[in-house]
Amino acid sequence: MTGQQRTAIVTGAGRGIGAEIARRLASDGFRVAAIDLDHDGLDALTAGLTAAGHKAIGIVSDISDESAVDSAVARTADELGPPVVVVNNAGIIRDNLLYKMAVSDWDQVMNVHLRGSFLVSRAAQKHMVEAKWGRVINLSSTSALGNRGQANYSAAKAGLQGFTKTLALELGPFGVTANAIAPGFIETEMTASTAARLGVSFEDFTAKAASAIPVRRTGKPADIANAVSFFASDTAGFVSGQVLYVAGGPKA
Ligand code: NAP
Repeated sequence: MTGQQRTAIVTGAGRGIGAEIARRLASDGFRVAAIDLDHDGLDALTAGLTAAGHKAIGIVSDISDESAVDSAVARTADELGPPVVVVNNAGIIRDNLLYKMAVSDWDQVMNVHLRGSFLVSRAAQKHMVEAKWGRVINLSSTSALGNRGQANYSAAKAGLQGFTKTLALELGPFGVTANAIAPGFIETEMTASTAARLGVSFEDFTAKAASAIPVRRTGKPADIANAVSFFASDTAGFVSGQVLYVAGGPKA
């Protein structure tokens, strides 16, 4: 098991893709620190992991807050050992067409995706460099290629790809890889909230999305967790600075 004696941080792990990533890394043998704003989601996750014999803690923290992130990473190191895997998964959407997009919609999306990923990676990198082994895995999106109504989100997700490639250059000499995963349509509360905003049932929304995806289905959180498991593994040590589209086709 890759993760034996190693600690991973997963942000936005209170539900959805992040919760599934946390479960997958735990079963790969990692001790897991799950960070989220939502206390109840973290409690449910860590109770399940602990009951299954894994070592996990939940930390309620806003990843866009510098001091909160520094404390969360320090607490992880104290309680679970140095975090050498970071999965920057926490995310929000504040969709609107450009002419209707508020500055607050722009700023909030940038703060969670870009500032948050920067803060968590910066706080954890010293542990990776000291260990001469590390993995940074960033959640981008097919929206990085452009998506109507998501000027803020697509810019943030494209920004994360540049961030990933730069970390790969800077941290590679210390045994640390950095990669991004760009999911297509994944069934979570995020996509459910988009269906609700558009006034269509989630069933109709996923069926329509599936018909446009080459493999003719929408994705599940486990599809993304599988890719994370690979990037976090020892066997992926020569793969860095890459963006893997996990979208049922070349793009969704
Ligand atoms: P989700 O169900 O909305 O879950 C996101 C989690 O992130 C929530 O638990 C949320 O907490 C947490 N979060 C938000 N802001 C935070 C902050 N400032 N600090 C700490 N935690 C925060 O989303 P998902 O669908 O699982 O998506 C996970 C990641 O994949 C995101 O980065 C998303 O952009 C990306 N992605 C998703 C899809 C998709 O189709 N679902 C496609 C491409 C990319 P609260 O609930 O308390 O707000």
